[in-house]
Order: sequence, then C-alpha cells, then structure tokens
Amino acid sequence: MEQRLVLVATGGTIAMAADVRAGGAVPLLRGEDLLRSLGEGALPIEVVEFSHLPSAHLTLETLWALRNRVQELALDPGVRGIVITHGTDTMEETAYLLDLTVEGDTPIVLTGSMRAASDPGYDGPANLLAALRVAAAPEARGIGAVVVMEDEVHAAREVTKMHTSSPGAFRSPYWGPLGRVEGERVYLRQRPARQALVCERLEERVMLIRLAVGMDDGLLRYALERGMRGVVIEALGGGRVPPWWMPGVREAIAEGLVVVIASRCVAGRVGDRYGYTGSCRELEAAGAIPANGLSGVKARLKLMVALGAGLRADGCREAFAREP
Ligand code: ASP
Repeated sequence: MEQRLVLVATGGTIAMAADVRAGGAVPLLRGEDLLRSLGEGALPIEVVEFSHLPSAHLTLETLWALRNRVQELALDPGVRGIVITHGTDTMEETAYLLDLTVEGDTPIVLTGSMRAASDPGYDGPANLLAALRVAAAPEARGIGAVVVMEDEVHAAREVTKMHTSSPGAFRSPYWGPLGRVEGERVYLRQRPARQALVCERLEERVMLIRLAVGMDDGLLRYALERGMRGVVIEALGGGRVPPWWMPGVREAIAEGLVVVIASRCVAGRVGDRYGYTGSCRELEAAGAIPANGLSGVKARLKLMVALGAGLRADGCREAFAREP
C-alpha cells in the first residue's frame, strides 16, 4: 500500500504574517501555503486544515477534538507519519497529551516557528522540513509524539519551551533530546520512555497551582470551593510546601480531590527524606501523589486524562507511579 504523510495545520506563529489592520502578526497561512515553500518530497502529503489559532486560543475542547482527529489518522494504515504545525506557547502540552492518549505506532511530530513568515529569518520552512523527515523516517515508528525544532527531536514528555523569543527555545532539560535531523538523515540516539492511558474524555476540573515563597493557601481553598476534582501543586524544590499549606492539603484529600505534587524546578523528580513539616515525605504520607519527573503543566494533563478515564485516587497514584 502506498503510504502518505499527513500535515495537520493548527495555526501558531509558523502560520502567521504581519497584518497592518490587526497591528501585528496573525494566522494567515494555511497548511497548503506552508508546504508550497518546500518543494517536492518523496511521499505524498495530505493536508488537514484543522484550525488557524494562536496556541493561547486553544480550548480543552479543541485540544480533545485534535486528539480524536490524530487518533483516526494514526490508526489508518495508509498514514506513515503525522506532522502537526502548532503554536509554540503550548506545543509541549499538546504533544504530551497526544503521546499519552493516541494509540498506535504512527509517529506524531509537532513543529512550529518562533519567527513569523514576515520576519527576517523565518524558521518555519526549515522546521517543517525537518519534522516531515522525522515523520517519514522508518526508525521513528513507535516513537510516540515528539517536538522537532531547530533540527532537534525532543520527546513530548521531556520537552519544554525555555525561551520567549529564541529560535532555539525548545530544550529537554532532564534527559536531553532524542536525536537530530542532519540534512536528509534522521538520527535517533534514544528511544523515549512512554506511557499510554486509554480515555474517552478529559476531566476539566483540574487546577494547577504554582507555589512561591511565603504564599498563602488561598488558591488551594479556591480549588476546594470551586468543586475541582484534582489539583496539581507545582511545589518548591523536590516537592515542598509551606507548613501552613498542610491543613488545606489534608482537607482537599479528605474531600476526595486528587492532589498531585510536581516541582517548579525545570528538571528532576520530586521526593525527599526531610523530617520537617511541608516536606514531600509528609505530603505523600498525607495522601498526595508525586508527579515524579513530570512538569506541572504535563502533570495537570495526565491527571485530567486519568480522572477522565474514571480512575480514582489509587488508580491515579498507580498511573503516576508508572511514570517512566
Ligand atoms: N504565540 C504563538 C503561539 O503559540 C507563538 C508561536 O507559535 O511561536 O501560537
């Protein structure tokens, strides 16, 4: 069977150019326009014009619809690989959601650009070409969802946007990139550790709270009042909270909220052996679940998926414990 690549265009700066009436760059380019600049490739490419949105405009509903569309494509034996053009601001979250919930071995490659088509040094075509090469590479089968930017291949679970404007904004600070694209060759030196969760919907009532020194527990109390089902606390260092947060954490768990502890550090796992109050050890003893090496934004998505799949606290604990 002849296989094809599929380009799913969602918007982002890669699809933007300056527009005088709007006062700045807005999404003007379609998937077809993006492809036109690249010339002929070895495989046919189908274009899906999914949306034309800055990634800050994506709702959870749109994200889940994208996931469902990608799942359909991933199960089509005629599809060799999927490339998604996407805004860089939330690219790591979409990539991780797809990595966690899309079944099958079809590679899913997200890319974008940091500079708009009307800017000098527009990085869209080079990133798109590299992404298409990864999606077509035989060794990319089973790799899950990855982000390809500036010729680097990053695992969805690890990658994060580290810089607001540099074309080299994407890094995998914990374990480094999986590989590189050099000319027409794709080199993958690591296989990503992946986990799949089967789920039909996202539980949207999950809140992410980032801690700062001396902060009161008002946001945690707010989560309780708003009827949240889960809370991810991006805690300090290896997973610590101020002592005055412990009563709220205990209350939230007693009321049935699933409380997950991530870290506001850019890399590393949570967990400690401290004896003082507010330590990760005390949080775990109180029933909070360590996110292991997942960032706060990705732990939030994982909790939305786990709760959406109908898991209770113990099931969520087990899903996070299986974190590779
Ligand atoms: N604001 C843009 C977005 O996320 C940034 C980008 O695509 O680079 O849609």
